[in-house]
Order: sequence, then structure tokens, then C-alpha cells
Amino acid sequence: MNLVHLLLRSARAYPDLPAVALGTRPLLDYRQLAQRVARLSTGLRRRLALAPGDRVALAMRNCPQYVELVFAAWHAGLVIVPVNAKLHAREFEYILEHSGAHTCFVTADLEAVIAPLRTRLPALENLVCVDEPGYEGLLVQDGSAPPLDRAPDDLAWLFYTSGTTGRPKGAMLTHRNLLAMTTSYFVDVDRITPGDAIVHAAPMSHGSGAYMLPNVAAGAVQVIPTSAHFDPPEIYALIRAYPGTSFFAAPTMVKRLVETPEAADADVDNLRTIVYGGGPMYLADCKQALQVLGPRLAQIYGQGESPMTITALNRFWHTDTRHPRYDQRLASVGIAHSVVEVRVADDQDRALPAGETGEVLVRGETVMKGYWRDAAATEAALRNGWLHTGDVGALDEDGFLTLKDRSKDLIISGGSNIYPREIEEVLLRHDAVAEVSVVGAPHAEWGEEVVAFVVPRPGCEVDVAALDALCLEHIARFKRPRRYLPVDTLPKNNYGKVLKTVLRERLTDR
Ligand code: AMP
Repeated sequence: MNLVHLLLRSARAYPDLPAVALGTRPLLDYRQLAQRVARLSTGLRRRLALAPGDRVALAMRNCPQYVELVFAAWHAGLVIVPVNAKLHAREFEYILEHSGAHTCFVTADLEAVIAPLRTRLPALENLVCVDEPGYEGLLVQDGSAPPLDRAPDDLAWLFYTSGTTGRPKGAMLTHRNLLAMTTSYFVDVDRITPGDAIVHAAPMSHGSGAYMLPNVAAGAVQVIPTSAHFDPPEIYALIRAYPGTSFFAAPTMVKRLVETPEAADADVDNLRTIVYGGGPMYLADCKQALQVLGPRLAQIYGQGESPMTITALNRFWHTDTRHPRYDQRLASVGIAHSVVEVRVADDQDRALPAGETGEVLVRGETVMKGYWRDAAATEAALRNGWLHTGDVGALDEDGFLTLKDRSKDLIISGGSNIYPREIEEVLLRHDAVAEVSVVGAPHAEWGEEVVAFVVPRPGCEVDVAALDALCLEHIARFKRPRRYLPVDTLPKNNYGKVLKTVLRERLTDR
């Protein structure tokens, strides 16, 4: 089944409900959205000569056209290649070249970055700016051709990994993968009612874009912030404007939302759910968010290779405070989605008993077909029929998964494995600590030593003795940081992920 049917169904079921809005201004209802998608699909085929299976790159900041372009591409049987709008020109060039896209849609701000690359990208025949009048010309007047049939394993989305280390890889997501992701959202994460709203507060090229699908399927309005990025006061204003609002946010964004001065007297009655994920949510931060925003949080753990769908901790578990293991559950990433199996395994891929730590493996309907044009990486990631996530964690008796870290972030000091996340959780309990990131620094004797980069709260200082005492109280002596480095901010990528590679480089540069 072609994913565009999710939209066509909503257009029949809820033709007059708002489908796309810019800030508080409604732009299109579902009938109009479906009509524009069909006309644009015809334009993609006729005017740009795109054929089924062709890749279409979207190098765009969040904008209303994102929604119609994604569905029009699927309508025409094409494969979307969303690209993070904050990438460096070289990274754009790599993804455009690697994906073999003939066509790239850009927003005006990115045209100046992409246009000069064309001389080195012979395959890139069309560069279309969605903010210029020519774009509307692609919406063919008599465009009412039916959508192209797609087989379940046909590609729908090339999802380029955030590439925090090495070259980004293109996870091949099929119509089947994304359909399974969409339907499992309603079972495993949250409900959505027709007329609800999703605010695209995070980049649509990544996390937030995937949320378009369940929200279109359920007849919710896609709200694009006018700032096109994450601005806490604007988000609070949009929550006030839209009943039944939800949105995806990285944990670092949730923290900003909770700590902004507007949070104190914000009216969040309209807020249904913030779905967070993409990086660790620390227990102390999660409890603070629940206190400020109320019982309106759900968590997902996923990766481009199984988008949004490895495990989830739904709203229920966030509020089940009387459960004897409430804190452990809140610090976990929840239980396996209904459409996948999750295993914690040893290096032979054998399942480990509850409580033991190993690599997280996933198999099921949402797992990618492989990496685009990279047989070796595909073979390594999908060996023995399981997706090897590169994340390390442990399952408990009830199937709740607690992530330790990415395997590459593991610190090995004096032959012992140390998981930075455990130390970060402890340090964040200290009132003077706003943010923290723990990494390993090369050490002649121990192999690596534990170093903590600490962002103090405004007006506070890093009190090394107090932090050391806190660690001694909660974790084994050998795991304590040997050095504390105060910093104003932590380096993060556009998706809010802390760039530990940058921190490690700072230590080796010293
Ligand atoms: P990406 O493919 O860019 O979405 O990155 C996926 C990676 O982000 C995962 O493999 C995890 O390491 C991390 N991640 C995603 N969700 C969570 C979560 N809820 N808690 C901790 N880490 C997460």
C-alpha cells in the first residue's frame, strides 16, 4: 500500500478539518491538501520528468510545503530524502551525491548553499525553491491522476543518520516500515483525535517529520511554527491556540521549555502530550518536566534504522507513581513496541537474562531494508536477522529497557566498563548543575579516565568536592570523574543531541 492513502483517507473522512497551519493561521483543510498533493504529484511526473523510485531531496527548514511535498512524492511513487537544514555545504553535497537525487527542493534560506554545489553534482537536474512563484507552477491544474501503486517493500524515505561520527548512512525505509510505525503509534505511544494538532517544533527532516504520518492518519492539523525552529515562548503560545496539541522534542528541548521564564505561569491545558526521545532523558529532568507540565509526557526510543519504534514509555507509566519501581521505569525507555521484538544480546547475538547488559537488537516490521548503496554496512547492521542498534542496555523482568549508552561512548578505565549515563544521572541531582556530559579521555596508565563537562546553573559554581561526595554516595568509587571541566554550554547538533565526539576532541587537543 502506498502511504499516500493515509492522507487520501483523511481527506474523505475529515475534508473540512484543518490540515496545515502556519503559526495560528490555518492554510489548508484536508480536502485542499489532498487536491494540492494530487496536482503536485502530476507536476513532479510531467514537469520534472520524475519516474517511480527516483529520489527527491528536501533541503528545507520546517515549512508548510514540507507536508504536501512528502505526500506528493509518495503519490508519484518517489522516494523522499529529507536533509537536515543545518548541515554544512560539504555534507549536503555528500547526501545529494550519494542518494543520486535528480531533484532537490529548497527553502529560500538554503538556495544559496545548494545552488553553488550543482557544478559538482551532474545528476542534480532540478533545484526548486518552494518560496518562489515557480513552485506553484508545479501544481498542474488538471492534475487528478490516481496515486501510483507501491509494493510494501518499495522505498519511501531515505533516512540519513545524523552522522555524529563518520559519514551519514541512508537507512532505506519502505512503505511497510512507515505504515507499521504509524499504526503502532496509536497502540504504543499515544492517541490522536481528529481536530487535534501537532506542532513541528523539531526538524521535519528527522524526528518531527515521522510524526506527520500518525497525525495525518488521524486527521490532526500540522502546525509549523512561524519562527521555523524551537522557540519556547512561541511553543507556549501555540499550545494556548490549539486544543489537543502534541509535539516531538529532544530531551534537551523539553528542558529548555521547562526552564524558560514563561513556564512559571504558562497555560498548558491544551497540551495533550510531549513525546520526547532521540537522546537520554535524565530522571531529575523528567520529574521536573512532569511537575511543570503535568502528566503529559511519553517517551520513544528509536533510530533512523527503526524510526520512532524500538521501545516506548507511554503516559501511563509516567504517572504510575505508586508502582514500587516507578523511578526505575521513569529512567528506562519503556517496553518494546507492539510491532517489534527487542533483545539484549551478547556478542554472539544470544539473548541475555534480565538485568544483564548487552547490545540492543531489534527485529520486526519497522526495521529498515538496509543502507542505501552500502552493502557492507547493511550486512554488519542486519546480521542474523536482527538490527544491531549500537546501543547498550539491560531489560528488567517486566521487559522495561534501560539504556546505558551508545557502545562507542562507553568508557573503559583500568579494564572496567563505565557507562557515562549512570554518572550523568548522579551529577544532575546536584542543584548547581544545569547540564552535564561525561566522556573518556585518553590516559597513559588506565587507558581512559572519566571526565565530566559541567554547565553550572546561572549564578552557581562547580563545587568539585560536593560533586565528588555525591558520586561517592551513589556509585562505585572507580566510576567517579577524575576531572570536572566547567563550560557555558554543551555542543549539540540540530537535533539537540550532545556531540560527545566534539567533547572528546577537546580533551585530546589539550
Ligand atoms: P537517530 O538515528 O539520529 O535518531 O539516533 C538514534 C540514537 O539516538 C539511538 O540509537 C540512541 O542512541 C539515541 N536515542 C534515541 N532515543 C533515545 C531515548 N529515548 N533515550 C536515549 N537515547 C535515545
